[in-house]
Amino acid sequence: MANDDLTDFGNVNVKKSEKTLLVKNIFEEVSEKYDLMNDLMSLGIHRIWKASFLDWMAPRPNHHLLDLAGGTGDIGINFLDRGGNIVTIADINPMMIFHGKKKSGFKKYFNRIRCIVCNGEKLPFDCNSFDLVSISFGLRNITNKSIALKEVYRVLKPGGRFMCLEFSKVNLKIIDSFYQFWSSNLIPFLGEKISGNRDHYDYLVESIKRFPNQDELLSIISSAGFDSVRYRNLSGGIVAIHSGWKF
Ligand code: SAM
Repeated sequence: MANDDLTDFGNVNVKKSEKTLLVKNIFEEVSEKYDLMNDLMSLGIHRIWKASFLDWMAPRPNHHLLDLAGGTGDIGINFLDRGGNIVTIADINPMMIFHGKKKSGFKKYFNRIRCIVCNGEKLPFDCNSFDLVSISFGLRNITNKSIALKEVYRVLKPGGRFMCLEFSKVNLKIIDSFYQFWSSNLIPFLGEKISGNRDHYDYLVESIKRFPNQDELLSIISSAGFDSVRYRNLSGGIVAIHSGWKF
């Protein structure tokens, strides 16, 4: 098998054609406890990261957002809370969306949230459809990232903006030591105790280690066609926000 038929899946390599299904199965199994696990694993800090993401996005009352890999809807609900108009949540996993729909924010905005089950590598939308496209903790899970980014570029309107929130590379030594201990020991432990599946959270930790660093991701996003690509680190680079424009 040629090497380019393989891709990373946690700390092993699998056929590209298999990864998407493996990832989909993981999120199906963790979907019910997904929001609780996010709060426990990050000590609630993912809420601050998502708020910073929305701060930089700065939604306006005429904006239609596509939130790709939108899962249980945190970004979409926050976007509407901050004055955005409509959000389309696209995710490969119907169970993530199913559990998201139980949230009060989802119910509050039921007539302004659209949900679509699809693969981010093949978006079922016309060209030039959205003012904004976001992806929060999703790009890492997509098999062919460059294909997905080209799809994002295609569906954005000219003048539209793409934003990505994702784990990245820590640039402060003091944070790194604590973070490595936390992610390698406590996250799989919590995964086993709360969600009953240690393997899925081992995948999470390994997929973070293998994800491109801030500058590498910046050039991958630029290669998909985006202009003025920039990033901001949060929590010493534990996560980074990337932003790029379709001019
Ligand atoms: N965006 C949400 C958040 O920030 O809480 C959910 C992030 S969750 C870590 C990753 C999401 O990516 C899951 O809901 C999963 O189903 C979705 N996903 C994985 N692969 C995908 C793909 N190829 N296309 C679309 N969604 C995908």
